[in-house]
Amino acid sequence: MKYNIAAVPGDGIGPEIVASAIEVLKKVGEKFGHEFNIKEYDAGGCAIDKYGIPLPKETTEGCLASDSVLLGAVGGQKWDDIPNHLRPEKALLALRKELGLYTNLRPAKIQPALADACVLRPDIAAKGFDIMIVRELTGGIYFGERGRNEKGDAAFDTESYSAYEIERNARNAFEIARKRKSHVTSVEKSNVLETSRLWKETVHKLHESEYPDVKLDDMYVDNAAMQLVRDPSFFDVMLTSNMFGDILSDEASQVTGSIGLLASASLGDSKRGMYEPIHGSAPDIAGKDLANPIATILSAAMMFRYSFDLAAEADCIENAVNKVLEAGWRTKDIAAQGAENWLRGSEMTQKILAEI
Ligand code: NAD
Repeated sequence: MKYNIAAVPGDGIGPEIVASAIEVLKKVGEKFGHEFNIKEYDAGGCAIDKYGIPLPKETTEGCLASDSVLLGAVGGQKWDDIPNHLRPEKALLALRKELGLYTNLRPAKIQPALADACVLRPDIAAKGFDIMIVRELTGGIYFGERGRNEKGDAAFDTESYSAYEIERNARNAFEIARKRKSHVTSVEKSNVLETSRLWKETVHKLHESEYPDVKLDDMYVDNAAMQLVRDPSFFDVMLTSNMFGDILSDEASQVTGSIGLLASASLGDSKRGMYEPIHGSAPDIAGKDLANPIATILSAAMMFRYSFDLAAEADCIENAVNKVLEAGWRTKDIAAQGAENWLRGSEMTQKILAEI
């Protein structure tokens, strides 16, 4: 098969880590007989420097014409003082909107080889966990009406959801669960919030009519925050709203202890998604070959799994990363403190390529 991929390296370490992931994509293509037509586009600070805006039309059009988008990271101190509507991060929000992406997927998985980096009690970490957080991305309180009273000493934000918005995210969660352990936990606060009551009602309706084979349970968000540190092995797919997902996905990724290894995806109605590491552009280490490429390489694996339905290819990348970590290879960010035998980003990429 032939796939068109739009690569958006962005700023800071973005170009280094995207180049690593492209090498991996090409190697997997050779091994499994796929052709990848990869075109690069500017977004973020580098686009501001070249075109005066964070998201040029060529980038939007190139991404819309692609089968999927691989993104590095955007931003950096250099662009911190420019007007808000021109900031590099605006490129990501605009791109998500243009591509119609409304669900964010964030896996939080304990890597057996890095279990000692996990911040949980050893007996809890030993049980392992592999959670996929499915977060609504374009609605809820972050996008609702907000304001202040005339005096400015009282403020409000509004949470609003339609059944349509909830259902399309729940559908993604159930579909993903079918590719995993077939268990969805819907996280809300229906004992207090009306939006949560609609959330629960809508998720259950869809479950009964189309996904009765998937196990579904409900959990209040306060309990979910607690269970993530008490017994994360309980979860398979966690489905939740924009704000709850924002908080819980950061908690879950920190719990793994290896934030530099975590990938993410944003999906919409079509198969085209946007795949990116959860970390930022790390300007402090840019250009020094110190960036860990694993989160971006695992984002490419997610692209195979969710946009192209190529599970064997995704497994191949994930297994290669696991083997390299199990063999004890580390980049500086995940090496033991004081260790001197760590790999540069390009060396880590070569180790992973050799395992594919
Ligand atoms: P950051 O994630 O870029 O960096 C935090 C720390 O982690 C730094 O010490 C950095 O060196 C390290 N780090 C991050 N990724 C690494 C990797 N792959 N390998 C090794 N070390 C890594 O977060 P920050 O410093 O808060 O933000 C820097 C810039 O990135 C800001 O301009 C911010 O707005 C932007 N940012 C962009 C995105 C995105 O594009 N999605 C996300 C978060 C932050």
